[in-house]
Amino acid sequence: MKVFISADMEGTAGIANWNEADRDHPDYAQFRDLMTAEVVAACEGARAAGASEVVVKDAHESGRNLMIDRLPDYCRVIRSWSGHPDSMMFGLAPDFAAAIYTGYHSKAGTEANPLAHTSNLRISRLMLNGEVASEFTVNALCAARYGVPSALIAGDAGICADARAMVPGIGTVETLEGFGPATVSLAPARARAAIREGVEAALRGDLSGRLPATSDRYEVVIEFVNPIDAYRASWYPGARKHGPRAVAFDAVEFFEIQRALRFMNS
Ligand SMILES: [Zn+2]
Repeated sequence: MKVFISADMEGTAGIANWNEADRDHPDYAQFRDLMTAEVVAACEGARAAGASEVVVKDAHESGRNLMIDRLPDYCRVIRSWSGHPDSMMFGLAPDFAAAIYTGYHSKAGTEANPLAHTSNLRISRLMLNGEVASEFTVNALCAARYGVPSALIAGDAGICADARAMVPGIGTVETLEGFGPATVSLAPARARAAIREGVEAALRGDLSGRLPATSDRYEVVIEFVNPIDAYRASWYPGARKHGPRAVAFDAVEFFEIQRALRFMNS
């Protein structure tokens, strides 16, 4: 059994401030360590459930956060960004049994995590088929393209609630809850234990239903903070202006939405 882990940082237990996710800030070292420990806990849970291989995509900022020598020997790790539209899910393939998400965070435009955002801080909201979408929304639909179920997400309470609404039965570990700029968090050791147990239980369970509903047509609307980003993105083939700060794009294949996001966001 092969298991895929997409590892972000802004939903790591304990986090409360952007300095803690910024590799150029002294606060980062501790949270890099905590992010790695949550990934290791997920690997151990997968191994206990019978995983022969775990592929980890380091999916925060530089893509070079995890302390790789701490990863178990049955792991492969994907670092930095290839430019492939699978982005935070790059490396996933149809032969994986499940996708796991660690360190995940609430979407842009919500108060459930002081670090809430979607893709980058230039986007005020991402809409998919009329609903506000998160990075998890896009990534679970990416996994579904490969037929890979989403087994468990660890992150703030807001993204866990969104994930349960989107993927019935998905396991969740609520690491923290946001209150304006503050967070109330599990102790990291408690979060790691819950991730280890949660991943093992999820992978031993029936994963067949843990797929998001798909659609026969997708429309994405990117609302930017600054109108100049919307103008710039509007030159992507097929994109159309959607008011002064937003662009819209639609497609039948979800991959085309991913490709559009890849180029319109960068
Ligand atoms: Zn991140």
